[in-house]
Amino acid sequence: MLSAPPPPKTCGDCGLCCKLMGVAALTKPAGRWCRHFRRASGCDAYEVRPDACRIFNCIWLLTEALDGAWKPTTAGFLMHSEPGRLIVECDPARPHDWRRNPYQETLTRWAGDPALDVLIFAGRQGVRLQADGATSPVRRA
Ligand code: SF4
Ligand code: SF4
Repeated sequence: MLSAPPPPKTCGDCGLCCKLMGVAALTKPAGRWCRHFRRASGCDAYEVRPDACRIFNCIWLLTEALDGAWKPTTAGFLMHSEPGRLIVECDPARPHDWRRNPYQETLTRWAGDPALDVLIFAGRQGVRLQADGATSPVRRA
């Protein structure tokens, strides 16, 4: 019997990108809650939110294979990507949560891909994760 595809994921009560991501159009720095974010109801400027907000989808939201443990509010970080890079943005209030499993083990496995840099930031400070689990410091450009 064919099974129905799972329903698409939704952000639900998350909103962590409204804290962790910078939004130039709002002069909103990364790591601070947006002035438009309301904990109970989300974005109070939803209809007129900047393009950067409209197009942003974190990797958990886009990836069916990542289960609820990877939801940003549960994990304590969100992930996004650039060509050749996976960027893990940690909530500065929970900078070490990525070291819990399944996160550290999975991120280290992904770091084994020679075509992918895995960078983990908490604010401007970050580390590059290597395939053996070692880290080296990096600073956000
Ligand atoms: S961090 Fe991801 S799941 Fe959370 S609100 Fe942003 S896009 Fe949605
Ligand atoms: S404008 Fe809305 S969607 Fe954009 S960061 Fe602020 S609260 Fe989030």
